[in-house]
Amino acid sequence: MSAAIALRRAGLAVDLIDRDPHWRVYGAGITITGPTLRAMGKLGILDEVLRQGYAADGIDIRSADGKPMFSIETQNEALGDIPSAGGILRPTLHRIMSEALLALEPRVQLGVTVEAIEWQGARTGVTFSNDQSCAYDLVVGADGIYSQIRQHLFPDAPRPQYAGQLCWRLMMERHPDIERRTFFLGGPAKVGLNPVSRDQMYMFYLEAQPEPVWREEETQHSVLGSLLEGYGGVLSDVRHHLGAASNIVCRPLETVLAGENWVRENAVLIGDAAHATTPQLASGAGMGIEDGLVLGEEIARHEDVRQALSSFMRRRYARCKLVVDSSLEISRLERERSAPLEQTKVVERALASLNQEF
Ligand SMILES: Cc1cc2nc3c(=O)[nH]c(=O)nc-3n(C[C@H](O)[C@H](O)[C@H](O)COP(=O)(O)OP(=O)(O)OC[C@H]3O[C@@H](n4cnc5c(N)ncnc54)[C@H](O)[C@@H]3O)c2cc1C
Repeated sequence: MSAAIALRRAGLAVDLIDRDPHWRVYGAGITITGPTLRAMGKLGILDEVLRQGYAADGIDIRSADGKPMFSIETQNEALGDIPSAGGILRPTLHRIMSEALLALEPRVQLGVTVEAIEWQGARTGVTFSNDQSCAYDLVVGADGIYSQIRQHLFPDAPRPQYAGQLCWRLMMERHPDIERRTFFLGGPAKVGLNPVSRDQMYMFYLEAQPEPVWREEETQHSVLGSLLEGYGGVLSDVRHHLGAASNIVCRPLETVLAGENWVRENAVLIGDAAHATTPQLASGAGMGIEDGLVLGEEIARHEDVRQALSSFMRRRYARCKLVVDSSLEISRLERERSAPLEQTKVVERALASLNQEF
């Protein structure tokens, strides 16, 4: 959606397809970093995101028994007056972005996917699952970690890899004691509480597992309850409120970096299709949003689509690779149960680098 907004604003006609006939997103929270808020500002959606989401600078670090240890400052002068951290519900963000996009009148077709891509010189032919076909100056594959477009463009690209952790997320009312992102370190796993609106927050719990494990929905609340045993303070309150009706999502973390080049002819991969990361820096969606924005900027700046795509790659590769690599490094430190300061040093270093303009 960010690419479609940026390309419409650059004056292009845009056809957007999504295979989901209802264009849904699942109901968890998402953390937004300062650079992502900056990109949202450039896309024209920041005011709505701040109005309907939550913003607060910094991250509090507490021990597993809930005692304050230290904090990480996230402000940086490169962000100007943009808040350096925040959160929002995924369906709320989806609604804000889709409304901003639809106001720009792209052609949106839902319940449709791509059957074939045919290289035709300056243009690329795309055949859709509804038997329609069309030739395009630019094709953008933004279809997530299991990207079908990646298969079409780069059949030999690496496949998503399991990263050794399951991520549990639990949506709940915001605890009055949680006013900004809060990590609980030094226990069996990294746990965090992130506000997503004045009234709501989500918890994440990163469970180390050598192989992906499927957690049955009916028993998720009791498994999560046992994982939280021994944690104190706010997390002890959270554990006592768990029940069969709790809003829990549990999934294995996976990652993929589709090589050093995401461009073939006049087609490009963006977002998780190009660089899916584990969530330690809360920057996966942020990098995807920036990709879309930069694509629009480069298309507006160049007459030639291929030159625009080369500039796009120059601006995006190192930045997205930094997110994937640093997130995996933090994930390793978490699984090894390394000292909290050792983990947060990598978080701080990567976030400071991402705050810079690129
Ligand atoms: C546990 C977890 C926590 C996370 N937390 C954060 C966070 O706090 N902050 C953050 O910035 N990021 C976070 N992320 C990462 C973030 O969720 C992803 O980076 C982001 O959703 C990627 O967006 P995307 O649009 O590239 O792909 P997706 O969100 O996967 O969207 C892909 C779209 O393409 C459609 N599609 C798929 N296949 C096809 C097809 N064949 N044809 C047509 N359409 C298709 C889908 O229906 C979907 O609408 C987290 C990820 C995980 C797993």
